[in-house]
Amino acid sequence: MTALSASPFQSTEFTPSGFGVTVPGPEVDEPIDAEDVERLLNNGKPSLRLPEPLEKAFITDEGPQRLRTMLISGVLVAFMFNWLLVSDWLLVPDQFDLALRLRLFLFTPGILVGVFLLTRLASAAMREWLLIFPATVACAMNAWLCMSSTDPMAGPYLSSLATIAMFSNSVVRMRFAPAAVLDAIIIALFVGAAINMPANLAPILIPAGLLLVCTIVFTLYGCYCQERDDRLNWLLHLRERLLLKNLEDANQELHDASRSDMLTEVANRRHFDEHLAEVWARHQRDGGEVALIMIDVDHFKAYNDRYGHPMGDACLKAVAGALKRRLRGPGDLIARYGGEEFIAVLSGASLQTVHGAAERIRRGIEGLNLLHATSSTHAVVTVSIGVATMNPSAPGATTTRLISAADEALYRAKNGGRNRVVAMRMDA
Ligand code: GH3
Ligand code: MG
Ligand code: MG
Repeated sequence: MTALSASPFQSTEFTPSGFGVTVPGPEVDEPIDAEDVERLLNNGKPSLRLPEPLEKAFITDEGPQRLRTMLISGVLVAFMFNWLLVSDWLLVPDQFDLALRLRLFLFTPGILVGVFLLTRLASAAMREWLLIFPATVACAMNAWLCMSSTDPMAGPYLSSLATIAMFSNSVVRMRFAPAAVLDAIIIALFVGAAINMPANLAPILIPAGLLLVCTIVFTLYGCYCQERDDRLNWLLHLRERLLLKNLEDANQELHDASRSDMLTEVANRRHFDEHLAEVWARHQRDGGEVALIMIDVDHFKAYNDRYGHPMGDACLKAVAGALKRRLRGPGDLIARYGGEEFIAVLSGASLQTVHGAAERIRRGIEGLNLLHATSSTHAVVTVSIGVATMNPSAPGATTTRLISAADEALYRAKNGGRNRVVAMRMDA
Protein backbone atom coordinates (compact mmCIF):
# COMPACT_ATOMS: atom_id res chain seq x y z
CA MET A 1 0.00 0.00 0.00
CA THR A 2 1.45 3.31 -1.01
CA ALA A 3 0.59 6.54 0.68
CA LEU A 4 1.47 9.98 -0.52
CA SER A 5 1.29 12.99 1.63
CA ALA A 6 1.62 16.69 1.32
CA SER A 7 3.21 17.56 -1.77
CA PRO A 8 1.46 18.77 -5.73
CA PHE A 9 2.60 18.87 -9.15
CA GLN A 10 5.28 20.71 -7.55
CA SER A 11 8.13 18.84 -6.85
CA THR A 12 7.43 16.49 -8.33
CA GLU A 13 7.02 15.46 -5.38
CA PHE A 14 4.30 14.18 -4.84
CA THR A 15 8.21 14.99 -4.71
CA PRO A 16 4.95 15.11 -3.74
CA SER A 17 7.33 14.25 -2.23
CA GLY A 18 12.95 10.69 -0.66
CA PHE A 19 12.80 9.82 -4.34
CA GLY A 20 15.79 9.82 -6.62
CA VAL A 21 13.59 11.67 -9.09
CA THR A 22 11.43 14.42 -7.74
CA VAL A 23 7.86 13.45 -8.28
CA PRO A 24 4.97 15.88 -8.31
CA GLY A 25 2.24 15.24 -5.87
CA PRO A 26 -0.90 16.73 -4.44
CA GLU A 27 -0.68 19.16 -1.53
CA VAL A 28 -2.89 17.44 0.98
CA ASP A 29 -2.71 17.05 4.74
CA GLU A 30 -3.97 13.48 4.74
CA PRO A 31 -2.03 10.78 2.92
CA ILE A 32 -3.49 9.39 -0.29
CA ASP A 33 -4.02 5.68 -0.49
CA ALA A 34 -3.07 4.04 -3.80
CA GLU A 35 -5.76 1.40 -3.27
CA ASP A 36 -8.50 4.08 -3.16
CA VAL A 37 -7.25 5.45 -6.48
CA GLU A 38 -7.15 1.98 -8.02
CA ARG A 39 -10.67 1.20 -6.79
CA LEU A 40 -12.05 4.42 -8.24
CA LEU A 41 -10.43 3.75 -11.59
CA ASN A 42 -11.67 0.17 -11.65
CA ASN A 43 -15.21 1.35 -10.91
CA GLY A 44 -15.36 3.07 -14.28
CA LYS A 45 -15.75 6.81 -14.76
CA PRO A 46 -15.38 8.80 -11.54
CA SER A 47 -18.28 10.89 -10.38
CA LEU A 48 -18.07 14.67 -10.12
CA ARG A 49 -17.04 14.39 -6.49
CA LEU A 50 -14.17 12.24 -5.30
CA PRO A 51 -13.95 10.88 -1.77
CA GLU A 52 -11.81 12.91 0.62
CA PRO A 53 -8.84 13.49 0.68
CA LEU A 54 -8.75 12.93 -3.10
CA GLU A 55 -11.27 15.71 -3.74
CA LYS A 56 -9.16 18.22 -1.85
CA ALA A 57 -6.02 17.09 -3.66
CA PHE A 58 -7.76 17.32 -7.03
CA ILE A 59 -9.00 20.87 -6.38
CA THR A 60 -5.58 21.95 -5.12
CA ASP A 61 -3.69 20.31 -7.98
CA GLU A 62 -5.94 21.77 -10.65
CA GLY A 63 -6.05 25.17 -8.91
CA PRO A 64 -3.12 26.89 -10.71
CA GLN A 65 -4.31 25.78 -14.16
CA ARG A 66 -7.90 26.81 -13.39
CA LEU A 67 -6.73 30.17 -12.08
CA ARG A 68 -4.81 30.78 -15.31
CA THR A 69 -7.95 30.04 -17.34
CA MET A 70 -10.01 32.36 -15.14
CA LEU A 71 -7.50 35.21 -15.43
CA ILE A 72 -7.25 34.95 -19.21
CA SER A 73 -11.04 34.72 -19.50
CA GLY A 74 -11.44 37.68 -17.11
CA VAL A 75 -9.17 39.94 -19.13
CA LEU A 76 -10.79 38.75 -22.37
CA VAL A 77 -14.29 39.46 -21.15
CA ALA A 78 -13.28 42.87 -19.72
CA PHE A 79 -12.46 44.00 -23.27
CA MET A 80 -14.86 41.94 -25.35
CA PHE A 81 -17.89 42.92 -23.31
CA ASN A 82 -17.40 46.51 -24.45
CA TRP A 83 -17.80 45.40 -28.06
CA LEU A 84 -21.47 44.90 -27.22
CA LEU A 85 -21.70 48.69 -27.22
CA VAL A 86 -22.01 48.36 -31.00
CA SER A 87 -25.05 46.11 -30.52
CA ASP A 88 -26.39 48.48 -27.84
CA TRP A 89 -26.09 51.34 -30.36
CA LEU A 90 -27.87 49.39 -33.08
CA LEU A 91 -30.44 47.39 -31.10
CA VAL A 92 -31.32 49.45 -28.00
CA PRO A 93 -30.28 52.99 -29.05
CA ASP A 94 -32.60 54.62 -26.49
CA GLN A 95 -30.57 52.98 -23.70
CA PHE A 96 -27.15 53.65 -25.19
CA ASP A 97 -26.12 56.22 -22.54
CA LEU A 98 -26.97 53.78 -19.78
CA ALA A 99 -25.17 50.97 -21.62
CA LEU A 100 -22.07 53.11 -22.01
CA ARG A 101 -21.95 53.94 -18.30
CA LEU A 102 -22.68 50.40 -17.20
CA ARG A 103 -20.15 48.78 -19.49
CA LEU A 104 -17.27 51.23 -19.28
CA PHE A 105 -17.55 52.51 -15.74
CA LEU A 106 -19.11 49.62 -13.84
CA PHE A 107 -18.47 46.29 -15.51
CA THR A 108 -14.98 46.79 -17.00
CA PRO A 109 -13.28 48.15 -13.85
CA GLY A 110 -15.38 45.77 -11.73
CA ILE A 111 -14.21 42.68 -13.62
CA LEU A 112 -10.55 43.79 -13.50
CA VAL A 113 -10.74 44.34 -9.73
CA GLY A 114 -12.59 41.03 -9.42
CA VAL A 115 -9.85 39.21 -11.32
CA PHE A 116 -7.23 40.74 -9.02
CA LEU A 117 -9.18 39.76 -5.89
CA LEU A 118 -9.70 36.26 -7.26
CA THR A 119 -5.95 35.68 -7.32
CA ARG A 120 -5.48 37.03 -3.80
CA LEU A 121 -8.38 36.06 -1.64
CA ALA A 122 -10.27 32.99 -2.64
CA SER A 123 -9.44 29.32 -2.17
CA ALA A 124 -9.39 27.12 -5.28
CA ALA A 125 -12.81 25.64 -4.46
CA MET A 126 -14.36 29.03 -3.65
CA ARG A 127 -13.08 30.58 -6.89
CA GLU A 128 -15.21 28.17 -8.92
CA TRP A 129 -18.36 29.42 -7.18
CA LEU A 130 -17.36 33.09 -7.26
CA LEU A 131 -17.42 32.95 -11.08
CA ILE A 132 -21.22 32.99 -10.85
CA PHE A 133 -21.11 36.61 -9.66
CA PRO A 134 -19.57 38.47 -12.66
CA ALA A 135 -21.54 36.34 -15.14
CA THR A 136 -24.78 37.14 -13.31
CA VAL A 137 -23.93 40.88 -13.33
CA ALA A 138 -23.21 40.75 -17.08
CA CYS A 139 -26.52 38.98 -17.78
CA ALA A 140 -28.47 41.30 -15.46
CA MET A 141 -27.02 44.32 -17.30
CA ASN A 142 -28.07 43.02 -20.72
CA ALA A 143 -31.49 41.95 -19.43
CA TRP A 144 -32.00 45.38 -17.85
CA LEU A 145 -31.04 47.22 -21.05
CA CYS A 146 -33.43 45.10 -23.12
CA MET A 147 -36.22 45.45 -20.58
CA SER A 148 -35.82 49.25 -20.35
CA SER A 149 -35.73 49.77 -24.11
CA THR A 150 -38.78 50.49 -26.21
CA ASP A 151 -36.99 49.47 -29.39
CA PRO A 152 -38.53 46.38 -31.08
CA MET A 153 -34.99 44.96 -31.53
CA ALA A 154 -34.69 44.68 -27.73
CA GLY A 155 -36.52 41.33 -27.97
CA PRO A 156 -33.98 39.53 -30.19
CA TYR A 157 -31.18 41.28 -28.30
CA LEU A 158 -32.23 39.42 -25.12
CA SER A 159 -30.80 36.27 -26.72
CA SER A 160 -27.34 37.79 -26.01
CA LEU A 161 -27.70 36.07 -22.62
CA ALA A 162 -26.93 32.85 -24.52
CA THR A 163 -23.49 34.26 -25.43
CA ILE A 164 -22.71 34.84 -21.76
CA ALA A 165 -23.86 31.30 -20.87
CA MET A 166 -21.72 29.89 -23.66
CA PHE A 167 -18.70 31.95 -22.60
CA SER A 168 -18.99 30.76 -18.97
CA ASN A 169 -19.56 27.12 -19.83
CA SER A 170 -17.20 26.74 -22.78
CA VAL A 171 -14.43 29.33 -22.44
CA VAL A 172 -14.14 29.69 -18.67
CA ARG A 173 -15.10 25.99 -18.47
CA MET A 174 -16.87 26.42 -15.17
CA ARG A 175 -17.22 23.33 -13.00
CA PHE A 176 -20.55 21.62 -13.57
CA ALA A 177 -22.29 22.51 -10.28
CA PRO A 178 -21.64 26.29 -10.32
CA ALA A 179 -22.32 26.33 -14.08
CA ALA A 180 -25.73 24.71 -13.50
CA VAL A 181 -26.56 27.30 -10.82
CA LEU A 182 -25.46 30.15 -13.10
CA ASP A 183 -27.48 28.79 -16.02
CA ALA A 184 -30.60 28.59 -13.82
CA ILE A 185 -30.04 32.25 -12.86
CA ILE A 186 -29.61 33.19 -16.54
CA ILE A 187 -32.89 31.49 -17.47
CA ALA A 188 -34.62 33.26 -14.55
CA LEU A 189 -33.23 36.64 -15.74
CA PHE A 190 -34.41 35.92 -19.29
CA VAL A 191 -37.89 34.98 -18.13
CA GLY A 192 -38.02 38.01 -15.76
CA ALA A 193 -37.01 40.40 -18.55
CA ALA A 194 -39.29 38.75 -21.14
CA ILE A 195 -42.33 39.03 -18.87
CA ASN A 196 -41.68 42.75 -18.48
CA MET A 197 -41.31 43.39 -22.20
CA PRO A 198 -44.17 44.36 -24.47
CA ALA A 199 -46.49 41.47 -25.42
CA ASN A 200 -45.97 42.03 -29.14
CA LEU A 201 -42.37 40.86 -28.76
CA ALA A 202 -43.55 37.32 -27.88
CA PRO A 203 -42.99 35.93 -31.44
CA ILE A 204 -39.31 36.81 -31.18
CA LEU A 205 -38.85 36.14 -27.45
CA ILE A 206 -40.03 32.53 -27.74
CA PRO A 207 -37.39 31.46 -30.31
CA ALA A 208 -34.81 33.59 -28.44
CA GLY A 209 -35.71 31.69 -25.25
CA LEU A 210 -35.44 28.34 -27.08
CA LEU A 211 -32.06 29.36 -28.44
CA LEU A 212 -30.93 30.21 -24.91
CA VAL A 213 -32.16 26.88 -23.51
CA CYS A 214 -30.47 24.93 -26.33
CA THR A 215 -27.19 26.78 -25.80
CA ILE A 216 -27.37 26.13 -22.08
CA VAL A 217 -28.18 22.42 -22.44
CA PHE A 218 -25.40 21.81 -24.98
CA THR A 219 -22.71 23.74 -23.18
CA LEU A 220 -23.72 22.49 -19.73
CA TYR A 221 -23.38 18.93 -20.99
CA GLY A 222 -19.95 19.98 -22.28
CA CYS A 223 -19.11 21.23 -18.77
CA TYR A 224 -20.15 17.90 -17.30
CA CYS A 225 -18.02 15.89 -19.75
CA GLN A 226 -15.07 18.22 -19.29
CA GLU A 227 -15.10 17.95 -15.51
CA ARG A 228 -15.59 14.18 -15.56
CA ASP A 229 -12.63 13.80 -17.96
CA ASP A 230 -10.50 16.20 -15.93
CA ARG A 231 -11.10 14.08 -12.86
CA LEU A 232 -10.40 10.83 -14.71
CA ASN A 233 -7.17 12.16 -16.21
CA TRP A 234 -6.08 13.46 -12.84
CA LEU A 235 -6.70 10.06 -11.26
CA LEU A 236 -4.74 8.30 -14.02
CA HIS A 237 -1.87 10.69 -13.55
CA LEU A 238 -2.06 10.25 -9.78
CA ARG A 239 -1.88 6.47 -10.19
CA GLU A 240 1.27 6.89 -12.25
CA ARG A 241 2.84 9.10 -9.62
CA LEU A 242 1.93 6.63 -6.87
CA LEU A 243 3.43 3.75 -8.82
CA LEU A 244 6.57 5.77 -9.35
CA LYS A 245 6.77 6.58 -5.65
CA ASN A 246 6.24 2.91 -4.83
CA LEU A 247 9.10 1.96 -7.10
CA GLU A 248 11.35 4.61 -5.65
CA ASP A 249 10.53 3.58 -2.08
CA ALA A 250 11.29 -0.05 -2.92
CA ASN A 251 14.49 1.06 -4.62
CA GLN A 252 15.50 3.07 -1.58
CA GLU A 253 14.77 0.12 0.72
CA LEU A 254 16.90 -2.16 -1.45
CA HIS A 255 19.66 0.41 -1.55
CA ASP A 256 19.58 0.78 2.27
CA ALA A 257 19.46 -3.00 2.76
CA SER A 258 22.46 -3.47 0.48
CA ARG A 259 24.49 -1.13 2.67
CA SER A 260 23.57 -2.16 6.19
CA ASP A 261 24.13 -5.15 8.42
CA MET A 262 20.85 -6.89 9.15
CA LEU A 263 21.64 -8.01 12.68
CA THR A 264 23.21 -4.90 14.15
CA GLU A 265 21.78 -2.29 11.78
CA VAL A 266 25.10 -0.52 11.39
CA ALA A 267 26.78 -0.17 7.98
CA ASN A 268 28.06 -3.34 6.34
CA ARG A 269 31.50 -4.02 4.97
CA ARG A 270 30.61 -2.80 1.48
CA HIS A 271 29.32 0.52 2.80
CA PHE A 272 32.46 0.84 4.93
CA ASP A 273 34.70 0.28 1.89
CA GLU A 274 32.83 2.92 -0.13
CA HIS A 275 32.80 5.41 2.71
CA LEU A 276 36.48 4.98 3.50
CA ALA A 277 37.35 5.48 -0.18
CA GLU A 278 35.31 8.70 -0.24
CA VAL A 279 36.77 10.08 2.98
CA TRP A 280 40.25 9.09 1.85
CA ALA A 281 39.87 10.90 -1.49
CA ARG A 282 38.51 14.00 0.21
CA HIS A 283 41.43 14.21 2.64
CA GLN A 284 43.90 13.52 -0.10
CA ARG A 285 42.54 16.64 -1.79
CA ASP A 286 41.89 18.85 1.24
CA GLY A 287 44.50 17.55 3.74
CA GLY A 288 43.91 16.19 7.27
CA GLU A 289 44.05 12.74 8.83
CA VAL A 290 41.79 9.73 8.43
CA ALA A 291 41.32 7.56 11.52
CA LEU A 292 40.09 4.00 11.99
CA ILE A 293 38.88 2.43 15.22
CA MET A 294 38.80 -1.35 15.05
CA ILE A 295 36.78 -3.01 17.82
CA ASP A 296 36.76 -6.71 18.63
CA VAL A 297 34.62 -8.34 21.32
CA ASP A 298 36.83 -10.23 23.77
CA HIS A 299 36.38 -13.98 24.21
CA PHE A 300 33.25 -13.96 22.15
CA LYS A 301 33.52 -17.59 21.17
CA ALA A 302 33.42 -18.47 24.87
CA TYR A 303 30.39 -16.17 25.28
CA ASN A 304 28.55 -18.00 22.50
CA ASP A 305 29.51 -21.37 23.95
CA ARG A 306 28.29 -20.37 27.39
CA TYR A 307 25.09 -18.42 26.59
CA GLY A 308 24.15 -19.71 23.14
CA HIS A 309 24.07 -18.11 19.72
CA PRO A 310 20.84 -16.06 20.21
CA MET A 311 22.31 -14.42 23.32
CA GLY A 312 25.50 -13.88 21.34
CA ASP A 313 23.45 -12.05 18.70
CA ALA A 314 21.78 -9.91 21.37
CA CYS A 315 25.22 -9.09 22.77
CA LEU A 316 26.44 -7.96 19.33
CA LYS A 317 23.36 -5.74 18.98
CA ALA A 318 24.01 -4.19 22.39
CA VAL A 319 27.65 -3.53 21.47
CA ALA A 320 26.59 -1.94 18.14
CA GLY A 321 24.04 0.21 19.98
CA ALA A 322 26.70 1.45 22.39
CA LEU A 323 28.98 2.28 19.45
CA LYS A 324 26.22 4.23 17.71
CA ARG A 325 25.52 6.23 20.84
CA ARG A 326 29.16 7.22 21.20
CA LEU A 327 30.11 7.94 17.62
CA ARG A 328 27.67 10.52 16.29
CA GLY A 329 29.99 12.91 14.46
CA PRO A 330 28.73 14.09 11.07
CA GLY A 331 31.44 12.25 9.12
CA ASP A 332 31.64 9.20 11.42
CA LEU A 333 30.64 5.79 10.14
CA ILE A 334 30.38 2.56 12.13
CA ALA A 335 30.34 -0.71 10.28
CA ARG A 336 30.31 -4.39 11.11
CA TYR A 337 33.65 -5.53 9.77
CA GLY A 338 33.30 -9.25 10.38
CA GLY A 339 31.66 -11.64 12.91
CA GLU A 340 32.28 -9.86 16.24
CA GLU A 341 34.42 -7.08 14.85
CA PHE A 342 33.32 -3.52 14.21
CA ILE A 343 35.18 -0.68 12.57
CA ALA A 344 34.62 3.08 12.66
CA VAL A 345 35.92 5.73 10.27
CA LEU A 346 36.53 9.22 11.68
CA SER A 347 37.65 11.98 9.41
CA GLY A 348 39.90 14.91 10.21
CA ALA A 349 40.40 14.00 13.90
CA SER A 350 43.82 13.89 15.60
CA LEU A 351 45.21 10.66 17.04
CA GLN A 352 44.69 12.07 20.54
CA THR A 353 41.00 12.83 19.89
CA VAL A 354 40.36 9.44 18.34
CA HIS A 355 42.18 7.72 21.18
CA GLY A 356 39.89 9.56 23.61
CA ALA A 357 36.82 8.47 21.64
CA ALA A 358 38.03 4.85 21.57
CA GLU A 359 38.63 4.91 25.31
CA ARG A 360 35.07 6.16 25.88
CA ILE A 361 33.77 3.33 23.68
CA ARG A 362 35.74 0.75 25.63
CA ARG A 363 34.46 2.07 28.95
CA GLY A 364 30.90 2.33 27.59
CA ILE A 365 30.84 -1.31 26.53
CA GLU A 366 32.32 -2.45 29.81
CA GLY A 367 29.66 -0.29 31.46
CA LEU A 368 26.90 -2.26 29.74
CA ASN A 369 27.66 -4.91 32.39
CA LEU A 370 26.78 -7.83 30.13
CA LEU A 371 27.65 -10.85 32.22
CA HIS A 372 30.43 -13.00 30.71
CA ALA A 373 31.13 -15.70 33.26
CA THR A 374 33.53 -17.64 31.02
CA SER A 375 35.76 -14.71 30.08
CA SER A 376 39.24 -15.53 31.17
CA THR A 377 40.08 -11.86 31.74
CA HIS A 378 36.92 -10.05 32.91
CA ALA A 379 33.51 -10.99 34.31
CA VAL A 380 31.60 -8.82 31.82
CA VAL A 381 31.70 -8.37 28.04
CA THR A 382 34.62 -6.16 27.04
CA VAL A 383 36.23 -5.08 23.80
CA SER A 384 39.77 -4.58 22.61
CA ILE A 385 40.35 -1.63 20.36
CA GLY A 386 43.01 -0.76 17.81
CA VAL A 387 43.24 2.84 16.60
CA ALA A 388 45.28 4.09 13.65
CA THR A 389 45.45 7.42 11.85
CA MET A 390 47.11 8.26 8.58
CA ASN A 391 47.51 11.27 6.33
CA PRO A 392 46.29 10.20 2.89
CA SER A 393 48.64 12.67 1.19
CA ALA A 394 51.71 11.10 2.84
CA PRO A 395 53.93 9.19 0.39
CA GLY A 396 52.94 5.51 0.23
CA ALA A 397 49.74 6.04 2.23
CA THR A 398 46.89 3.69 1.22
CA THR A 399 43.65 2.59 2.82
CA THR A 400 45.00 -0.97 2.95
CA ARG A 401 47.98 0.21 5.00
CA LEU A 402 45.68 2.15 7.32
CA ILE A 403 43.47 -0.92 7.87
CA SER A 404 46.56 -3.08 8.51
CA ALA A 405 47.78 -0.52 11.03
CA ALA A 406 44.46 -0.57 12.91
CA ASP A 407 44.55 -4.38 12.80
CA GLU A 408 48.07 -4.36 14.17
CA ALA A 409 47.03 -2.00 16.98
CA LEU A 410 44.10 -4.30 17.80
CA TYR A 411 46.42 -7.31 17.87
CA ARG A 412 48.61 -5.50 20.37
CA ALA A 413 45.57 -4.61 22.50
CA LYS A 414 44.61 -8.31 22.56
CA ASN A 415 48.13 -9.36 23.43
CA GLY A 416 48.37 -6.66 26.05
CA GLY A 417 45.60 -8.34 28.04
CA ARG A 418 42.37 -7.26 26.19
CA ASN A 419 39.83 -4.64 27.33
CA ARG A 420 42.21 -1.89 26.27
CA VAL A 421 42.95 0.62 23.52
CA VAL A 422 46.16 0.75 21.52
CA ALA A 423 46.65 3.68 19.15
CA MET A 424 49.19 4.03 16.35
CA ARG A 425 49.91 6.99 14.12
CA MET A 426 51.20 5.84 10.76
CA ASP A 427 53.40 8.19 8.81
CA ALA A 428 53.20 5.75 5.90
P1 GH3 B 1 39.31 -12.84 21.09
O1 GH3 B 1 39.14 -12.31 22.45
O2 GH3 B 1 40.71 -13.22 20.79
O3 GH3 B 1 38.74 -11.95 20.06
O4 GH3 B 1 38.50 -14.21 21.04
P2 GH3 B 1 37.12 -14.47 20.37
O5 GH3 B 1 36.57 -15.70 20.93
O6 GH3 B 1 36.27 -13.29 20.49
O7 GH3 B 1 37.52 -14.64 18.86
P3 GH3 B 1 37.24 -15.79 17.84
O8 GH3 B 1 37.67 -15.24 16.51
O9 GH3 B 1 37.96 -17.04 18.31
O10 GH3 B 1 35.72 -16.06 17.89
C1 GH3 B 1 34.80 -15.18 17.33
C2 GH3 B 1 33.43 -15.78 17.51
O11 GH3 B 1 32.41 -14.90 17.09
C3 GH3 B 1 33.25 -17.06 16.76
C4 GH3 B 1 31.90 -16.94 16.10
O12 GH3 B 1 31.08 -18.05 16.38
C5 GH3 B 1 31.30 -15.72 16.74
N1 GH3 B 1 30.44 -15.03 15.83
C6 GH3 B 1 30.75 -14.49 14.63
N2 GH3 B 1 29.64 -13.92 14.07
C7 GH3 B 1 28.62 -14.12 14.94
C8 GH3 B 1 27.23 -13.77 14.93
O13 GH3 B 1 26.71 -13.14 14.00
N3 GH3 B 1 26.48 -14.12 15.99
C9 GH3 B 1 27.02 -14.81 17.03
N4 GH3 B 1 26.24 -15.12 18.07
N5 GH3 B 1 28.31 -15.15 17.06
C10 GH3 B 1 29.11 -14.82 16.04
MG1 MG C 1 37.66 -11.40 15.97
MG1 MG D 1 36.87 -11.46 19.49
